[in-house]
Amino acid sequence: MKMPQPLIVANWKMNTTVEEAKGLAETIRPRLEAIEGAVIAVCPPFISLVIVSEVLRGSGIGVGAQNMHSEEKGAYTGEIAPEMLSEICRFVIVGHSERRQHFGETDEMINRKVQAAGRVGLTPILCVGERLPEREQGRAEEVVEAQLGGCLEGVASPGDLVVAYEPIWAIGTGRAATPDLAQAMMAHIRGLLASRYGADAAAAIPLLYGGSITPGNAFDFMREKDVGGALVGGASLDADSFVEIVRKGAEAEA
Ligand code: PEP
Repeated sequence: MKMPQPLIVANWKMNTTVEEAKGLAETIRPRLEAIEGAVIAVCPPFISLVIVSEVLRGSGIGVGAQNMHSEEKGAYTGEIAPEMLSEICRFVIVGHSERRQHFGETDEMINRKVQAAGRVGLTPILCVGERLPEREQGRAEEVVEAQLGGCLEGVASPGDLVVAYEPIWAIGTGRAATPDLAQAMMAHIRGLLASRYGADAAAAIPLLYGGSITPGNAFDFMREKDVGGALVGGASLDADSFVEIVRKGAEAEA
C-alpha cells in the first residue's frame, strides 16, 4: 500500500553553524510551504534545533534530531536525553550507519534508543542497510533482517516507527541504488514488519530510501510501491536541491 503522502527528511549531519542553519531554514520554509502533498522534516545539528524549530514554527515542517542517548538523564557528559528532544522535536534518527561505523553503535544500543523514543513520544527513524561486500555476497536481505530484528527486539507495537533503508555503499557516494533494488528491499522489510506487527500495522509504517538522493533520481525512487519517502543527506544542504526533491516526492505520490 502506498502511503498517502511521502515523508521526506533532511539530514544536515555535522554541517551548518547556527547562523547557517537558521538561514537555510528561513530559505526553505516559504518554498516548502508552497508544495502540497508531502510531509517534511529537517534534522539539523543539536545546537541548531531550537533556532530551526523557531524558524519553522507554524509551517507544518517537522524538526528532528540526528541522534540521542537512550537513558532518561544522568552522568552522561556530552549526551542529549530523549525528553530534552521531545520538547523541540517530532523525529529522531536512530542507528544511522555513520553512528554505527564511527561511534560503535550496535543493534542493542539502537534498540534502547527506539524504545526510549517511544516513551517520550518521539518518532524514531530507524536506519538499516548493508555494506557493499555484504550485497556482493548476496547477503543484503539477511543483514537487514538481522538489524531490524535486533533494533526492534521487545518493541511490542511499532507506534510511530519510520524505517529508512540506506545501503551504506550509496550514502554520500553519488552512487545511488536503483529504484528496483530499493523496492525489492522495501518489500522484504515490509514483509518482516508484517510478520512482527501484522499486515495492517506494517502497511502504515513509512519506509524511506536514503543514499545519494538527488532531484534527478528522487521521482523514480519515490514512485516505487513500497518507497514512502526519502532520507536526504548531502542534497538537503542545498535549498534548491532539497525543495526540488520534495516537489518530486509530492509528484510521485500524486
Ligand atoms: C544520509 O545521510 O542519510 C544520506 C542518505 O546521505 P546522502 O544523501 O548524502 O547519501
